[in-house]
Order: sequence, then C-alpha cells, then structure tokens
Amino acid sequence: MNIHTLLDPVHASATLAEADRLMTVCNSCRYCEGLCAVFPAMELRRSFFDGDLNYLANLCHGCGACLSDCQFAPPHEFNVNVPQTLAKLRADTYQAYAWPRAFSGLFERNGLYISIIAALSVTLFVAGFAASNDPGVLFATHTGPGAFYRLMPHNAMAVLFVGVTLYVIVAVSMGIRLFWTDIGEPGRTLREPQSIWQAMKDASTLRYLDGGGVGCMNKDERPTDRRRLYHHFTFYGFLLCLAATSVATLYHYIAGREAPYFWYDLPVVLGTLGGIGLLVGPVGLLLEKWQRDPQLLDQARMGMDVAFLVMLFLTSFTGLLLLFCRQTPAMGLLLALHLGVVFSLFLTMPYGKFMHGIYRFLALVRYAKEKREFS
Ligand code: SF4
Ligand code: SF4
Repeated sequence: MNIHTLLDPVHASATLAEADRLMTVCNSCRYCEGLCAVFPAMELRRSFFDGDLNYLANLCHGCGACLSDCQFAPPHEFNVNVPQTLAKLRADTYQAYAWPRAFSGLFERNGLYISIIAALSVTLFVAGFAASNDPGVLFATHTGPGAFYRLMPHNAMAVLFVGVTLYVIVAVSMGIRLFWTDIGEPGRTLREPQSIWQAMKDASTLRYLDGGGVGCMNKDERPTDRRRLYHHFTFYGFLLCLAATSVATLYHYIAGREAPYFWYDLPVVLGTLGGIGLLVGPVGLLLEKWQRDPQLLDQARMGMDVAFLVMLFLTSFTGLLLLFCRQTPAMGLLLALHLGVVFSLFLTMPYGKFMHGIYRFLALVRYAKEKREFS
C-alpha cells in the first residue's frame, strides 16, 4: 500500500469503493479461495486500499468462475459480482497509468476508429512517398532481394518504425512505473529471479484462466477452455511475429541479406507461423466474447478490447496477403497497407488491451513474492 492511500482512505472512484465492499464480503466468506490467485492474495489483507484493489483487479483473469459459484451473486441482495467489478477496475487502471494520460481517454472512447485512421494515414504516407518519386513504382512488379525498398528506402522505413518503437517503450515503461508505485511494491521485487520465474511460468501457461479447473464461464453456463486456447494462439503468435522481425533485422544488418526472403528462410517461417496464430487467436477471442455472459463483462469498454483484437488480426492478415502476393503488381499497395497497420498497432498499444498482459504479469510477480513470504 502506498502512503497516500494510508493517509486518505477514501477511494478514488465508485468502482474502487465497490471492489472494496466485495473484497470485504469475500474475505469473510472465502468459499472461492481455490479458484485463482485473487482470493489467496485477498486473504493476506484485512483492509483494501486503492493500490491493493488495482493489484487484485490485474491479478484477476476474468474466468467468471467466482460469479457462477457465488451464493451472493445477483439477484441476491449482497449483489456480489467480482468478475465484472474487477474488469471495470482493470480498464480504469489502463487509463490511469497511461502516458500521456490524455491519449488514453481518446482511445478508450474511439479505439477502433483511431486505430483505423492511424493505419490508413501511414498507408497513404508510404504509398505517397513511393509515388512521389515515380508513380509507376507503386504498381510495378518488383522481385528479388531489396524489392520492398524500391518503394521506400530501408533507412526511411527504419526511421519510421524505430521512432514508434521508442515511443512505445517510453509509454509502456511509464505505465509500468505508475502501476508499480500505485500498488506500493518496491523496485527490488522486479529483480528477484524466483518471483520473475514463477510469474513467467504462470503467465505462459495462463494458469489462472482455468476457472479452478473447468474453464471459463459462458452464457449457457457450460464452462470451456477455449478462451485459454485462443489466448495462447494470440500470445505465441505475437511472440513469433516479433521473433521474425528480430531475425530479419539480424539478416539485414549482420548477414547483409535484404528482404524479401525465400519461403524457407527463418523470418518467413516464423512470421507465417506467428501470422496463423494471430489469425486464429483474435478471431477465436472475438467469437468467445459474444458468447460470454454479459454479467461478467465491462460492456462500456468492449470497444477497447475489440480494437486491439481487430488490429492484431489485420496485422496478420495484411502480412500474409503481402507474403502471397509479393511477386505481383499488388505488392506496393499491400506493403504500404501492412506497414500502416503495424505502425497503428504499435502506436495504440500503450492505451488499450495490450497493457493487460503487462500489468497482469507484474501482478503475478508480486503474487509470487507474497506467496513465498507468507507460506
Ligand atoms: S465470490 Fe461469493 S462465494 Fe466467492 S468468496 Fe466471494 S462471496 Fe464467497
Ligand atoms: S473471475 Fe476468475 S480469475 Fe477473476 S476473481 Fe473470479 S475466479 Fe478469480
């Protein structure tokens, strides 16, 4: 807990006050303590300050099991709905820790529009850049090493993407700093190998997204493990695409080999596998979203979730389309479109659902430390 909340115990929002009420009820009941990490972490506390509640909200994986198991769930007068309240609180934290903060409010209200406008703007910029030197170059067929750079020199592309990557690193680092300060955890916890290793294991297997062993709850009250599966497709697909970009950078700067590469080259193999993961995962998660019980969700923030999933899907879709059509006259426009979508995905990452992975991982690091200390 931080000193500010100790001096001023009044909660900063109605959602925090509701989360406090629910955690106080749950702390007396403790029926759900075997379902996930939230309840054991809650039991280590007697009172709940804002930072504690923000920590618990990000530790929650939204499986919904504690709503379906709760004898005090609506329509009971206690009106205990932990998943929905923690989902609202999580979304509040994405906004509260965003940097610069004004951007997050804008993105929360218009996430998908902003993402698409940013993607189309960069697409037009790249296409205009190519056509400004030679209008024919955009619709010509380019083959062989360096084909992509006949539209835009490699250094110009590098400036565009190094710039947005640095911006994302700064914005995400500021978010991490704000979250860590808010939950009152000392910086040295992030240097504890045991806590980091445990959190990596829990995050990479999505250990707490299993609803206590039966899977996530849906509208039909039949739990399934599909959300965990689609999360895995999305997460590992994203990592494979990052690996493909990193290997391609090494090819370019160390081996002196220019893109595009043959289908059997490592960047293409990694990118294709990652791309398939980023098609299957986001589509699956979107379909799952429609089947979830509305009582579990923060309906007001659905747009933010959808924007991120749509941008991940479009990144993969345009990337794979470019791979299959790279030796045709469509390559120029497809390259511009793919670069635009990737740029927009990067630019909007610090303000949307991408951050849930970062804050959840940090919450798992703290939980691993607490579990060790109190066991
Ligand atoms: S969610 Fe309901 S059943 Fe579970 S611990 Fe809280 S009050 Fe008890
Ligand atoms: S929704 Fe799932 S992860 Fe979240 S508190 Fe309830 S049981 Fe735990």
